[in-house]
Amino acid sequence: DHVKKYFPIMGGVLRHTVGQVKAVDDVSFTLNEGETLGLVGESGCGKSTLGRVIMRIYEPTEGTLSIGGQDISHVKGEKLRKLRHDFQMVFQDPYSSLNPRMSVGALVAEPLIVNKRGTRSQIQDEVVSLLATVGLNPEARVRYPHEFSGGQRQRIAIARALALHPKLIVADEAVSALDVSIQAQILNLLSDLRKEFGLSYVFISHNLAVVKHVSDRVAVMYLGRLVELAPKGSLYTSPLHPYTQALLSAAPEPKRHVTRERIVLVGDVPSPAKPPNGCAFHTRCPKVMDVCRSIRPELEEYTPGQYVACHLYS
Ligand code: SF4
Ligand code: MG
Repeated sequence: DHVKKYFPIMGGVLRHTVGQVKAVDDVSFTLNEGETLGLVGESGCGKSTLGRVIMRIYEPTEGTLSIGGQDISHVKGEKLRKLRHDFQMVFQDPYSSLNPRMSVGALVAEPLIVNKRGTRSQIQDEVVSLLATVGLNPEARVRYPHEFSGGQRQRIAIARALALHPKLIVADEAVSALDVSIQAQILNLLSDLRKEFGLSYVFISHNLAVVKHVSDRVAVMYLGRLVELAPKGSLYTSPLHPYTQALLSAAPEPKRHVTRERIVLVGDVPSPAKPPNGCAFHTRCPKVMDVCRSIRPELEEYTPGQYVACHLYS
């Protein structure tokens, strides 16, 4: 609810604060139990920062983060550690998130050992069952991450993430480093696990096709703000925000014979340290109006369930 995450910019000889990066700037949304929310946007739009705020790796600068009605925005210490059991993150590069010196068995067992989830042999059994859940055989336990392909490493990271039976998984570009055929396998695995474990996901990606595959609803982010939030069907068939329209026009649609007119955005994404006044997208928007340069549009419901932040709809 109105979550902001600002980072100070240090400068000068005294290394004092000379400005701030508004990585997440007033974001509100609800994630329902068992739901997958896709979060899309170009690199640097703040989606990874938002993911880390949701995980409470970062504390929000302002605003409230709650789970089941409990405010967790500023919890610390033991309380935060307990909370972490419910939240797990899966990253783009499983190789860098898996300690290369630990065997796969030790990697998957670690969260169980740290949290004293049973005896040695119970934990061993649990590791075998977690590996089976992600499609790896028990022999994988004695091998090391480098002996596996990228897709298999992501399966190991997922097994580890599942060990404490989380409620929510934040997947940040979880399949972006994989070949397309392997991507589909991992996406299918994540969908199956959602049903099996009653998981909710925040699925972060720059790739609209990937997000379409897994999400119930999709949120589009630009320069730290949500510009559109809608059920998947509405977002892909009738996008409202000019930025969503541009992103979709650039995304290939191999299966459908829709020829969308390609909208080419000019210019780069402005710096989040100096976001434009008014609508942050106005410097690149093909439909910019005078009002857009001075007044910031709020995210509002335009059609049932479809929210958009754009003066064209207010
Ligand atoms: Fe474009 Fe104006 Fe809408 Fe922003 S508010 S997306 S600049 S039309
Ligand atoms: Mg990122």
